[in-house]
Amino acid sequence: MMTNTELTRIYQTHFDSILPHKRLRVEAIFYTSKTLRHTIELKKHTVYIRISVIIQDAPIDVLQALATILFLKLFRYKPDKTARQYYQTYVDEHVVPHLPAVKRRVSAHYKAAGRYFDLTEIFERINTKWFEGKIKQPRLGWSLTPSYIRLGFYDAERNLLVISRIFDSKKTKPEVLDFLMYHEMLHIVFPTERINGRRRIHPPVFKEAERRFPEYEKIQQWIHRKRHRL
Ligand SMILES: [Zn+2]
Repeated sequence: MMTNTELTRIYQTHFDSILPHKRLRVEAIFYTSKTLRHTIELKKHTVYIRISVIIQDAPIDVLQALATILFLKLFRYKPDKTARQYYQTYVDEHVVPHLPAVKRRVSAHYKAAGRYFDLTEIFERINTKWFEGKIKQPRLGWSLTPSYIRLGFYDAERNLLVISRIFDSKKTKPEVLDFLMYHEMLHIVFPTERINGRRRIHPPVFKEAERRFPEYEKIQQWIHRKRHRL
């Protein structure tokens, strides 16, 4: 988990790289919030940033994209579309599904049948093979936008299981999709734990079960190396 000191350091470096002529000090903290509201203000020669604790687990590049958005906003510069999209995709696919929000409607655009693979078939096969057919089928769908970061997610609130549509490709090895489905189904079996208010999405029991999948290491490597070429 990232600390305030690390966040400040990363944000200072990022600020100096995108707005080098400003020469300002940056101070950043995570603050307790139930919403995704972040604040930025300039006081004397310091830029104060408060980032919602909800995204404390986000990868560094997502936190940097958010910083770009905030820095540009502070000085009323033209927004950076790429940063916005990058941040928004992460929020939509990684954060929103885990928020204790009111019932959200599932978009009718989610479809299980892809061009090359049908998620319903995969779900049924994995369910029979690994879960004695005991998992009740959630709503299944390919992600609405291609995502190379969020490869899949299970949203308990909406009972929706999504796999990134980049994998609906003839280049995808079937066992990779089987594994991605297996991973998301484990989220149904092992719900997110909350310890002292912190979310634990992949607890140790989850990781242990995940490694039982045949050729686990090989599949990880394939995903790591090949996904950008799908
Ligand atoms: Zn996961």
